[in-house]
Amino acid sequence: MTLEKNSYDTAVIGGGLTGLTAAVYLARSGRSVVVLEKESRLGGLAETAKMNGALFNLGPHAMYEGGAALRILNELGCMPEGGYAAKGSMIGILQGRIVEVPTGLTQEENMEWRGLMGGLSQIDTESIRSVSVQEWAESSIRRERVRLFFYAMCRQWSYCGDMSALSAGFAIE
Ligand SMILES: Cc1cc2nc3c(=O)[nH]c(=O)nc-3n(C[C@H](O)[C@H](O)[C@H](O)COP(=O)(O)OP(=O)(O)OC[C@H]3O[C@@H](n4cnc5c(N)ncnc54)[C@H](O)[C@@H]3O)c2cc1C
Repeated sequence: MTLEKNSYDTAVIGGGLTGLTAAVYLARSGRSVVVLEKESRLGGLAETAKMNGALFNLGPHAMYEGGAALRILNELGCMPEGGYAAKGSMIGILQGRIVEVPTGLTQEENMEWRGLMGGLSQIDTESIRSVSVQEWAESSIRRERVRLFFYAMCRQWSYCGDMSALSAGFAIE
């Protein structure tokens, strides 16, 4: 790789969302910037891979309204296209079948699910920091399918697939 100049005010290492954002703001403030990216493409985890006609997000796929990411993209004039995520329900694949939560649960499961979701904010997360999600769920959630959907939510929030290694205090907080 050859650089256009011998020296820059700032070198940003990594051309993911963070590096690119930092580089744009630095350049806007009048500094010369070079972005050094080890891969052949920019974007880092923001990349989407296309395989057999299906799209796989390596990382981000959604943003919070009112969050910093959306505000910055707005400021930079590159608002992402897309729709709104359904807030009321969640869809999972359980034993090879698509199940919508809460409508696909039995009445008992549904009651437990609602109780669980409604009670999460009351849990003293500090006291279960060193308890794993698996340990906590096995002692606190009676019905297996409710537990499995709880694990699915924890995986999605934390990007951690191993429920025996994930802190219940962290995940619930
Ligand atoms: C599965 C998953 C889902 C996510 N979903 C969301 C979501 O829905 N919404 C959301 O807001 N966030 C989400 N995130 C978080 C989001 O991906 C990150 O906050 C964001 O992508 C971080 O950007 P970054 O630039 O810091 O890191 P990265 O995207 O990881 O970019 C780092 C870049 O640095 C490069 N690099 C690393 N080392 C070197 C080196 N030595 N020299 C040169 N280049 C180097 C890498 O190749 C890469 O391009 C998700 C993350 C994951 C893993």
